[in-house]
Amino acid sequence: MKILVVGSGGREHALCWAIRRSPLCTELLCAPGNAGIAEFATLVPIGVEQVDDLTAFARTNAVDFVVIGPEAPLVLGLADKLAAAGVKAFGPSAAAAALEGSKGFMKDILAKYDIPTAGYGRFTDADAAKAFIRAKGAPIVVKTDGLAAGKGVVVATSLDEALAAVDAMMGDKLFGAAGDELVIEEFLTGEEASFFAIVDGTTALPLAAAQDHKRVGDGDTGPNTGGMGAYSPAPVVTPDIEAKVMERCILPTVRGMAAEGRPYRGILFAGLMIDEGEPKLLEYNVRFGDPECQVLMARLASDIVALMLAAAEGQLAGKTVEWSDDPALVVVMAAKGYPGSYRKGSVIEGLDQANQVEGVRVLHAGTERNARGQIVATGGRVLGITASGASVAEAQTRAYQAIDRIRWPEGFCRRDIGWRAIKR
Ligand code: ATP
Repeated sequence: MKILVVGSGGREHALCWAIRRSPLCTELLCAPGNAGIAEFATLVPIGVEQVDDLTAFARTNAVDFVVIGPEAPLVLGLADKLAAAGVKAFGPSAAAAALEGSKGFMKDILAKYDIPTAGYGRFTDADAAKAFIRAKGAPIVVKTDGLAAGKGVVVATSLDEALAAVDAMMGDKLFGAAGDELVIEEFLTGEEASFFAIVDGTTALPLAAAQDHKRVGDGDTGPNTGGMGAYSPAPVVTPDIEAKVMERCILPTVRGMAAEGRPYRGILFAGLMIDEGEPKLLEYNVRFGDPECQVLMARLASDIVALMLAAAEGQLAGKTVEWSDDPALVVVMAAKGYPGSYRKGSVIEGLDQANQVEGVRVLHAGTERNARGQIVATGGRVLGITASGASVAEAQTRAYQAIDRIRWPEGFCRRDIGWRAIKR
């Protein structure tokens, strides 16, 4: 079948790579893709938020199946538009993607279906938000209701910081309309992990757990980023915790969304806080994480296309998912300056040599080829050096061996990805 992947990051490179291995895939396209994906798929120059153009392209080019990577097109209704055009797609409807698109909606679903999470309030009025904050005290967490590319969350350690966040989000409109409503949450402590399930509307199959490193600096210091690295499995998610997450979070959410008339189909990504063996749900995302997807695809032994098709067709019941026993780890290489401002266009060399390290695959996140055929950086997060090994420590050694072969003076990475798993 002819498959179109929507997206251009490391997540989509990993998805394309996994999809390409499936005997069901005869032709692979990616919109808009990157230089790494271009090595084995046809790039289509349409941006991820151009949902009408993507739909028209899929219809007129007889695409059999569309796999939607990022949240933005899902929230904009790409899956609905494709369905209306008669094109099969993997990813939730806009009504179901509200689990990520509106934190207030998500929290109300969790409350209604009795899913463990932080206590919260929803506010469209700044004075009411501030009164709630004063009544609850710090630490407290202030979030924009809508999508803000991971930046619309302030974990405030003092009252002043929390009140200032309300002013920035609601008064100064730092995140535009995403801040018209705020969700204010109780502060939770524990260890964070990501858990992924694949859902067909009624049936949910557990996939795997991962942990990422959000801070830019070694030792988890410095500002937050989209993610500087990840590994899977996550030792903190024991079989007992996985069972609790399925029973208490994923399954009631899937039943609840069906009861709400918003059946959920696609990847359900649970952001968890685990404290003394008890998981609580921090947030839902309606797609794979980036960079978590890179390590999940490195471990997945089953046919991803067969699973995604079954999810799209409501046929997941009775299916099983096979995994490699080997852990996987990804180290993100970013342009110097990220997550602040950085320069685009610097030349990257040595990727072929890096790819030759055993167990390593260099995934591209923000790259293109220049007129001279060289790979150049086009984004903040640029490469994801993904490695498998007999242990997280071996995967880590391999990833850094590969990185040491890459010649990119304008890039950097953390040198301690995986430390938490290795320390255990
Ligand atoms: P992303 O999608 O990048 O994870 P987001 O904007 O969807 O970000 P959340 O995941 O809700 O935001 O929050 C981002 C981070 O803030 C979490 O990973 C966690 O570290 C912290 N956080 C969020 N909510 C809480 C909470 N209630 N208690 C403690 N920490 C929290």
